[in-house]
Amino acid sequence: MEQDKPLAFRTRGLTRTYGEGEGIVHALRGVDLDIPEGELIVLLGQSGSGKSTLLNMLGGLDKPSGGSVWFGDKELSKMDDDALTQYRRHNIGFVFQMYNLMPGLTARENVQLVTEIAKDPMSAEQALEIVGLADRMDHFPSELSGGEQQRVAIARAIAKRPGVMFCDEPTGALDSVTSKMVLRALVDVSDELGTTQMMVTHNAAVADMADRVIYLKDGNIDKIVVNEKRLPPEEINL
Ligand code: ADP
Ligand code: MG
Repeated sequence: MEQDKPLAFRTRGLTRTYGEGEGIVHALRGVDLDIPEGELIVLLGQSGSGKSTLLNMLGGLDKPSGGSVWFGDKELSKMDDDALTQYRRHNIGFVFQMYNLMPGLTARENVQLVTEIAKDPMSAEQALEIVGLADRMDHFPSELSGGEQQRVAIARAIAKRPGVMFCDEPTGALDSVTSKMVLRALVDVSDELGTTQMMVTHNAAVADMADRVIYLKDGNIDKIVVNEKRLPPEEINL
């Protein structure tokens, strides 16, 4: 069965609380999760169900209150801040709802900010080509649509060849036509680079393009669905 696939991530009893006393919020209530390498995973759940918190734990942006998180055989939940910074820098590409591009730099230059400091990067040109922006490299963010800007952000995230990509509501600010182009770019990245991808969204239709769908509810895993076949983003009903 699928047990044979190497795991990108494993969590056991993972908890995260915010605050204390009467106002305590249980964002994650003891999550046990196995994430196989190379899959495209969609994380679904209502607002406040713990999706971003889980992504932040796996991505080393925040630390658990209890339980364990492993990336391969490395235990993230035992790392100090410096080790987590190194972990993120060398392994993880992040894409958020806001693109956070430098307005004074072209698309190419925005991606080069990363390729200049990464260990074994692809060229900015190659990264932009993968996301379908070969003909927009010398445009400034203000000359690009929202979907194009998000694809520059994806190019920036993949240029260092991360093993894992975390995308938190990557199409949250985009209309459905533009969203599909961004989702297409993410699928192409997954196909061309074999990157493990975890995408948070509140749009349930996106589940159809995933290998595996994790449903969160009130800080717990509600269910996990493995899709035999994933639909191309062009065919999902956004
Ligand atoms: P989702 O991404 O599914 O909308 P989150 O992971 O952002 O959910 O939040 C889960 C719960 O934790 C929510 O109740 C939220 O209000 C709370 N929460 C998240 N981050 C913080 C924080 N920094 N401080 C206090 N509460 C937080
Ligand atoms: Mg969120």
